[in-house]
Amino acid sequence: MRLLIMGPPGAGKGTQAAVISQRLGIPHISTGDLFRANLAQGTSLGQEAKKYMDAGEYVPDSVTNGMVRERLRDEDARNGFLLDGYPRTVQQVAELDGMLAGKEIDRVIELTADTDAIVGRLMNRSSQQGRADDNEEVIRRRLEVYEEQTAPLTQLYKTRGVLVNVDGLGEVPDITERIFTALNA
Ligand code: AMP
Repeated sequence: MRLLIMGPPGAGKGTQAAVISQRLGIPHISTGDLFRANLAQGTSLGQEAKKYMDAGEYVPDSVTNGMVRERLRDEDARNGFLLDGYPRTVQQVAELDGMLAGKEIDRVIELTADTDAIVGRLMNRSSQQGRADDNEEVIRRRLEVYEEQTAPLTQLYKTRGVLVNVDGLGEVPDITERIFTALNA
């Protein structure tokens, strides 16, 4: 299974992706996690990414695409993967198509959630996890960037007939069940 999970920041992508990947036995590949791991290790890629992440902007493709390309070459991703947070722009969709060299994405899960619920969740996460990009101003910017650059991708995957929409509000296990129901439909 080659899956993508999309949705605005705070919709619960990371939480759901971890559960889905474990159940399906495919790696969870989160670009946000890869950037944060690089940052923790003090790599130059991590330092470059930090400037953008802290401002709520997207990290440039020149940094992002190569990182994903390399990760997808790893042995564990050969029989499938769940990509979380990539692609985020129309250009990244084209890049990913190129990386897959004709192999199709089976399903794109879009988690939906309204803005008020999202801001509340992210403010909560900020007090629990202390992520530098979870303060109100940056959250608002991330939502704006998502609407402008990433939301349009759902239409593209809908046209390809692989999009499934799942309501991201509610308890974590309920949302997981909704996702599996949608994937099996
Ligand atoms: P996330 O953990 O998915 O919310 O990502 C955290 C931050 O990492 C985002 O706000 C961006 O700054 C950066 N990022 C993650 N994925 C991408 C991507 N595909 N393209 C550009 N920037 C990204």
